[in-house]
Amino acid sequence: MTSIAENIHSIRRRMAAAAERAGRRPEDILLVGASKMNDAAACRAAIAAGIDALGENRVQEMAEKSALHAYDGAPLHFIGHLQRNKVRQVVGQAALIHSAGSVELLREIDRQAEKRSLVQDVLLEVNIGGEQSKSGFAPDALYDAAARARELPHVRVLGLMTIPPPAREPRGNLPYFTKVASLYVDISRDLYDNRFKYLSMGMSDDFEDAIAAGATVVRVGSAIFGHRQYQ
Ligand SMILES: *Cc1c(COP(=O)(O)O)cnc(C)c1O
Repeated sequence: MTSIAENIHSIRRRMAAAAERAGRRPEDILLVGASKMNDAAACRAAIAAGIDALGENRVQEMAEKSALHAYDGAPLHFIGHLQRNKVRQVVGQAALIHSAGSVELLREIDRQAEKRSLVQDVLLEVNIGGEQSKSGFAPDALYDAAARARELPHVRVLGLMTIPPPAREPRGNLPYFTKVASLYVDISRDLYDNRFKYLSMGMSDDFEDAIAAGATVVRVGSAIFGHRQYQ
């Protein structure tokens, strides 16, 4: 077994234990491999080991690896910051865009999806820490954004995504996860007839807390693929 496969199995066990502690069913939580800066062979190893989806951050990297069949056999998600002028390259390629973080971006996704005669599944990104450096909707702008997104015929909002600020202490992100989970439940009920499916939160260091708070999708990178070599 490759180390990628071993890592995935061990994360699955930890996910299942976290789900059971929270009185939830393990099969209700998806594991997305955040495969940025890992090559096509690593992606294929993760797919062979049963990862639910792969998530990419950069459009260029996604296109290059896609041409090498890195994602054959698993859904591809886009999880990174998305620029408006790159939307065209992602719509219809990614099964789910996690990072729809402005009304302008939602409109552009709608426009590009209409051109291709498809409906693009997206999540609304919430900037739960109110950080200047991060994209996403402020919590108090989220209801309005979700209501507007509902009017876009070629966009289907299936839930929320968040990346909390770097945690300063163990379990430091749990309050953020809990807040986003409560927005998720309220918006799904009030605006989307309880049709939300994906609450995407939790990474290598905190996916168990995210599951405790209600995550249905966790995005795990380094705990699967090893530490990324930034140049
Ligand atoms: C890189 C990345 C992850 C995974 O981060 P790890 O700490 O390596 O697990 C999750 N979500 C997003 C949006 C990322 O960019």
